[in-house]
Amino acid sequence: MVLSEREWADLAVGAGWAARLPDPFAQAAALERTKQLEAAFLILEGEDREILLLRDIEEMSGEQTADLLGLTLTAMKSRLHRARMRLLAAMRRAEAVGPGKSLALSCLEVLQCLPHYADRSLSPEGKIAVERHVAECQACAHFGRRYAELLQALPVLGHGGGTGA
Ligand SMILES: [Zn+2]
Repeated sequence: MVLSEREWADLAVGAGWAARLPDPFAQAAALERTKQLEAAFLILEGEDREILLLRDIEEMSGEQTADLLGLTLTAMKSRLHRARMRLLAAMRRAEAVGPGKSLALSCLEVLQCLPHYADRSLSPEGKIAVERHVAECQACAHFGRRYAELLQALPVLGHGGGTGA
């Protein structure tokens, strides 16, 4: 099965990654898909999470993503495609598993908070919630470290100062 860019965009909107939908039925469907996505993210390899975060959640350009991961644009695109396919496959398998309910934030929410955590724009409550989650979730702890390394590797996105925000 091959998903078109359009179909992928619909899925991203449905999952709440892109613009929020006003329709309550669409929101209920989106919530359901978000739960599936959360569970699927737990199953994915770090490499897949990484590229999906950069390209689909942070919405970096293809060139930026390729640079950050040290790949050619073509290699980045094919890795992204494989990661999306594995995410979809994992979503199907994850329906049986279900996301962890004990944590205040879901893994997907933590992934979405990471950029804000990195640039310190997260509220104090959000920061605590992310840290609490990462303290208990090995997958997110590993991913968070890898993400921090990636940010440091790209000076323009680094937060050591000098960007003049
Ligand atoms: Zn997690």
